[in-house]
Amino acid sequence: MNDQIGEPDFAGWRLEHSYAELPSIFFTRQEPQPVRAPGLVLLNAELAEELGLRTDELRSPAGVGLLSGCRTLPGSKPLAQAYAGHQFGYFTMLGDGRALLLGEQRTPDGKLVDIQLKGSGRTPYSRSGDGRAALGPMLREYVISEAMHGLGIPTTRSLAVVTTGQPIQRERELPGAVLTRVAASHLRVGTFQFAAAKGSKEELQVLADYAIGRHDPELQKADQPYLALLNRVISRQASLIASWQLVGFVHGVMNTDNMTISGETIDYGPCAFMDTYDPATVFSSIDSQGRYAYGNQPAIAVWNLARLAEALLPLLHEEQERAVALAEQALAAFSDLYRQHWLAGMTRKLGLFQPVPEDEQLVSGLLRIMETARADYTHTFRLLTLGDLESSRLQIADAEGYGEWRSRWQERLGQQPESAEQARELMKRSNPAVIPRNHRVEEALEAAEQGELAPLHRLLAALRDPYAYSAEQESYTELPPQDCAYRTYCGT
Ligand code: AMP
Ligand code: MG
Repeated sequence: MNDQIGEPDFAGWRLEHSYAELPSIFFTRQEPQPVRAPGLVLLNAELAEELGLRTDELRSPAGVGLLSGCRTLPGSKPLAQAYAGHQFGYFTMLGDGRALLLGEQRTPDGKLVDIQLKGSGRTPYSRSGDGRAALGPMLREYVISEAMHGLGIPTTRSLAVVTTGQPIQRERELPGAVLTRVAASHLRVGTFQFAAAKGSKEELQVLADYAIGRHDPELQKADQPYLALLNRVISRQASLIASWQLVGFVHGVMNTDNMTISGETIDYGPCAFMDTYDPATVFSSIDSQGRYAYGNQPAIAVWNLARLAEALLPLLHEEQERAVALAEQALAAFSDLYRQHWLAGMTRKLGLFQPVPEDEQLVSGLLRIMETARADYTHTFRLLTLGDLESSRLQIADAEGYGEWRSRWQERLGQQPESAEQARELMKRSNPAVIPRNHRVEEALEAAEQGELAPLHRLLAALRDPYAYSAEQESYTELPPQDCAYRTYCGT
């Protein structure tokens, strides 16, 4: 049994339970399973403040008890969400196998955000899993999700990581941990697939209405709210995937259950940032076909969105043929939306304020040179930003075609009304000096697992404002050691 905390508003918690009002097929009520010895490892003070939470109380035994699943708030209704999903193309019934929604926090500025414990024990959706998570992967999710936030990319956030004092069995025995994840919601493409597969049309509609209420309340008055919802999700995902491409982020497991309705990045399992520019980059050990390779992410997003459109068909039109035509029309917009975001972002990375269609050639010209020269993606844009070829030579400086490309770029920069200084400022805002490089993340996680947290805190500090170009960030801009073929693992 979990001990209850006396006050429902302890530490500033103001939990609502709107998801728990949905039809019962969408969740199973479940209490978190208490752990042996909860210990706070990381607490995100800045996020806590945004949520209206008091960190001194969160750090207290009762606070850490709550963040580890040992204690609950009076009146809280923890639940595991049901969802389905295409995993590597195959449809499966899923659900929170190791996560629980504690409720939705009403923030001081009136927003409603999901508070979820990840690694909090078995649920009816656990299948053969143990419902638990290891410390390393939970710290990794904390670091990468907060880095994405720093980069300005929509993402779920990480409020805290606590250790459980209970080892878990993976390839070897690992310390167990619980992550507190904060999300605009945990509604996924797979939640709609679940509704379409398991629910009635009414239940599907209730879910769609709920999604509209959470993310797009102004669509309640639209002529065709469900088509409008589909369009919104398509447009948010087009923007999101473009922002991943711009920073070289490889999600690694773009299954439909890992794609949100809110447009936030979710599920930091096998993800990693690309070092050497190569569209075929894959980090996940289980993605042998390269389905989720860097260069495939936009195409996979459309594929996933088509699964969302299919699930929504009964709500789009009474006649199936009309519904399919509407869905196809909506999906067809993705490609242009994506290209607009991508080109706008890429030209900003080159210091150009007003993209023109010909700029696409300038951008692809550079990417081709980078690919041939096996240049580091982030490093190249950082050095172009610093414009300081003499002191730190670009890897591509001697590559064939670079000189010619550079002249074309300089000429294009010279044609715009903005000054060189303004262009450089734009480039600084658009090209991160630091990303969570795999070797630096691993180094920090290994130290943390040995109880040494300083490297992790330094890394988090460097990633807070990746566009600062500060002296403290300098050491994090270094390239990984050569021949470091980085691999990530699922089943985290
Ligand atoms: P993911 O690969 O993290 O998107 O997870 C896919 C599915 O597996 C989800 O339904 C998870 O809840 C479930 N899952 C992952 N790890 C575990 C675990 N250790 N125990 C139970 N379920 C898990
Ligand atoms: Mg997932």
